Amino acid sequence: MNLLHDPWMPVRLRNGTREWISPERLSDRDVVAFDADRPDFNGALAQFAIGLLQTATPANSASEWRQWFKVPPPVATLREWFVPIEEAFVFDGDGPRFMQDRNLQAGEFSDIGGLLIESPGENTIKNNGDHFVKRGHVEALCPQCAAMALLTLQINAPSGGAGHRTGLRGGGPLTTLLGVEAGPSNSLWHGLWLNVRERDSFLALCGDRMRTTPYARFPWLAEITAIQKLDGETTPAQVHPDHVFWAMPRRIRLDFEHVSAGACDACARWSEHRLQRYATRNYGLNYKGAWEHPLSPYYETKEGWLPLHPQPGGLGYRQWLGWVAGAGVDAKRSRKRARVVQHALDDRGRQLGANLSLWAFGYDMDNMKARCWYESRIPLYGLAACATDVQREVETEVGQHLAAAELVAFFLRSAVKDAWFGSDARGDFSHIDASFWGSTEPAFYRQLEKRITAARDGRDFDRGAAAEQWLATLQQVVMRLFDEVFVGAGAIERQHPRRAAEARRKLMAGLRGNKLRESLGLLVAEPAAKKAKKSSKNPPVLPSTDGGTSAIRRSA
Ligand SMILES: [Zn+2]
Repeated sequence: MNLLHDPWMPVRLRNGTREWISPERLSDRDVVAFDADRPDFNGALAQFAIGLLQTATPANSASEWRQWFKVPPPVATLREWFVPIEEAFVFDGDGPRFMQDRNLQAGEFSDIGGLLIESPGENTIKNNGDHFVKRGHVEALCPQCAAMALLTLQINAPSGGAGHRTGLRGGGPLTTLLGVEAGPSNSLWHGLWLNVRERDSFLALCGDRMRTTPYARFPWLAEITAIQKLDGETTPAQVHPDHVFWAMPRRIRLDFEHVSAGACDACARWSEHRLQRYATRNYGLNYKGAWEHPLSPYYETKEGWLPLHPQPGGLGYRQWLGWVAGAGVDAKRSRKRARVVQHALDDRGRQLGANLSLWAFGYDMDNMKARCWYESRIPLYGLAACATDVQREVETEVGQHLAAAELVAFFLRSAVKDAWFGSDARGDFSHIDASFWGSTEPAFYRQLEKRITAARDGRDFDRGAAAEQWLATLQQVVMRLFDEVFVGAGAIERQHPRRAAEARRKLMAGLRGNKLRESLGLLVAEPAAKKAKKSSKNPPVLPSTDGGTSAIRRSA
């Protein structure tokens, strides 16, 4: 089985049917999406396809890139691109195998279900602790699903005990891919190709382009000691830039000898060669140093830039600024958007059209345990078509709106806690935040669409009115959540009328207060204005180019 030529990728066709294709058909106009049985497999397939195209394409100028975006390459062209790297994509056989340790000799085997991220680790089974993820659920996988499971694990590898390494972006990274909304002229190809850069500009990103030996790109083509000492580290300087897509933190070798016939436990298709086990060992490639994966946003820490990971509470519009603009809501939270997003918005601009979106996904991992899979599609409303300075203006305003929303979420959480328990309650109140962000999301996107459309069409936009409108939305939603969902509807034994009334009064004061108006750049009442040494002749809205941007930190 060769993963470049055999049909192992499940996709959905334009007419709604499902088919399995080889990567040579990725440019087929009838193919509209990946269609695996698990969302994490779809995320991994997209990264495989983007990595493959980035690794194989000779396209090296903006015009070549544009040409392939307009007219997808025919099968014969893709086949030609793939010829030089064919040997790296053999999946079985006696020689090197895709993403598998070359010479792994194992006395012990693990059950094939262990490849799945949510599978209970050995210790969990020993301690009988697999309450949520049951053992024995997946006992046999068809070779196609085994390939997807292996790929998904190498991309997302969580810490797996002593020497079982995490992925190049740590366990369960957040991935943000550009996408196009479905339409008669768009196919899966367009969504993939958007995330591929011109060859030279990709090679300049991360890694040493002079390291052209095949194993520096595809580590399974040699012993891992060719790249690092067994207990050593692998930094970008030791490998080729293509390596970011083909990282192999886990040492695994699938057992193609002990197979069985039957229905696959992941896709339910019949297979004569269901895989049941694999060999594994610790101390594989240990990714350290200044890695920068082009498909992930990063945040700044004292130790340098680290990849973002999904957090409890999910993905939503509150992350818009970090993922799209590469800016933190305040100076303490510096963000860097994914390189592919930056390249598309800054350099490709108008040629991309107005129907771009961002597909964000990843696991929320609690160390080695997968808590939840999150994914979300974020509309961009033609932001890419706006001039760079206009994009910055929009980002500044979004930053203010998000800062206000964060403040209001805090007011709501505090008020509900006060009403329920008095002031010093501890515990997990994340569901309050989640319903606040969920309830305000439609209004946020409606306003954003209006704002970007006005900017794109070169029309004037009343920022003061938009800020007042957003403030009114926040006030309205929060009072409704407090009165109808959390406190008014609370269990009767939790009701405490005097405490609830006091909490409500405090919440109203916060919502009408100066702090919130200031966060939106709106004119505030006299005393606070004096404190801030503002002249009363100030316009009602702070100009976005100075006062606003000072609160936002972005990185190139
Ligand atoms: Zn299967």
